[in-house]
Amino acid sequence: MPQPFTRISKFFTLAALISLASPALASSFVINVNFGGGLSSSQQSIFTSAANTWMSLLPSYRTGINMSPLTITASGAAIDGVGGTLGSAGPGSVVSRAGFWLAANGSMQFDTADLTNLESNGTLSTVILHEMAHVMGFGTLWNQNNVYVDGTGQYTGANALAAYRTEFNLPGAAYVPVELGGSSGTANGHWDEVDGGAGNTGRVSALGDMRYELMTGWLNSPSFISKTTVQSFVDIGFVAAVPEPSTFAGLASGTLLVFFLKRRR
Ligand SMILES: [Zn+2]
Repeated sequence: MPQPFTRISKFFTLAALISLASPALASSFVINVNFGGGLSSSQQSIFTSAANTWMSLLPSYRTGINMSPLTITASGAAIDGVGGTLGSAGPGSVVSRAGFWLAANGSMQFDTADLTNLESNGTLSTVILHEMAHVMGFGTLWNQNNVYVDGTGQYTGANALAAYRTEFNLPGAAYVPVELGGSSGTANGHWDEVDGGAGNTGRVSALGDMRYELMTGWLNSPSFISKTTVQSFVDIGFVAAVPEPSTFAGLASGTLLVFFLKRRR
């Protein structure tokens, strides 16, 4: 039975700092992961790899956005053993820049028992990529950036919607469906799939059914990163890599596949 990802937290500090005038400039997107303890060296390397994947897919912020590196504090702690609470992830403080709300820092905390279990079953890299996306704003800063209204199930950001129409061969789609099932930390923060991740959605890209997309609410392996997900970050202030996104999504998937293959004896 598929397992839900970490419940996301939408409780963070909105720091309404107005950007200083430098309209022609855009900062590179840089993630600095600070390891706060409780993580093995192999687990730390998975965090670093996830940060590199997102920086490759999203090399900078949009024009006029001046940001310091996104600092993510990652840590492990004993919570409740395997299963139950996996941990939490989300933005810490959020700042306004050039009309967008962006995470300035964030945290990712996991139960050490779950970390060990996920690492041994080969899904930790997927989980870390997923949770890091929430820290970057996926599902957590949609309301602030006017691409989604809680409870509607309809994501309307223009870039992700355009990608979705093409990628999933749904040219008439008026929105990207958002999950309304699951717990409060699952609903309104992920792409829609069958509740519980229990079956295919019938919305199929070249990389697979939406069920296997990285940013749905339940973990199904092996996962892929859709163009829709990459472009959703463009909707909330990032610039996607060119050529994009299939090449990079493929690379990211390749990384995951290598990881999955390695665990098979
Ligand atoms: Zn999630």
